[in-house]
Amino acid sequence: MKKKISIKNKNVKLYPTKIICLGKNYLNHIKEMKSQKPDSPVIFLKPISSIIYNKDKIIIPRDATNPHYEVELVAVIGKKGKNISSDKTDEYISGYGIGLDITLRDFQSEAKKNGNPWGICKGFDTSAPVSDFISSEKIIDPHNLDIKLYKNKKLVQHDNTKNMIFKMDEIIEYISKFFTLYPGDLIFTGTPSGVGPIENKDTLRAQLGDLITLENNVRIL
Ligand code: MG
Repeated sequence: MKKKISIKNKNVKLYPTKIICLGKNYLNHIKEMKSQKPDSPVIFLKPISSIIYNKDKIIIPRDATNPHYEVELVAVIGKKGKNISSDKTDEYISGYGIGLDITLRDFQSEAKKNGNPWGICKGFDTSAPVSDFISSEKIIDPHNLDIKLYKNKKLVQHDNTKNMIFKMDEIIEYISKFFTLYPGDLIFTGTPSGVGPIENKDTLRAQLGDLITLENNVRIL
């Protein structure tokens, strides 16, 4: 399956090979989850098949009882790289967008309790809605962007990317030690506080500053 990533004002189409996600990257979210601040980025993956786009439906599997939204800044890679040093990481980021890391919190809690991996709770179909991307040249500072999420028009998450614990240079340097990054690969940079449940027919609208919007409706099977 191929998924296409579009960058506005750039006539390029990118086809991701993986989605790399950070957990625990905002202190206020770590606190609400009663977790600990990590010493290095906490990484998990989503499959390419989990990607959906603006106006697509988020479909929650029928076995899930506590699906949650998490709004996140998402970076898209523009150039192949491995072992990238932190002073060179800008060259590898082609654009930024906004995304949702839809999480089956009940499955995640059970996995955490038993020391099991997060494949299902983070990787199920439609768990990675992403907006179109804005070319990184158009973004003055990726670490000073407002991210907002509205659920049924009510503001439920609002923070600024300056509060990310690990910034893009540290993230790219770290993950590229382990993964070759390819054009189109997506990096979800973690959610701030305010995560909460979604229900059938909810509408989620995520905003990256006034640059781009992502809207998805929820269906519970
Ligand atoms: Mg997340």
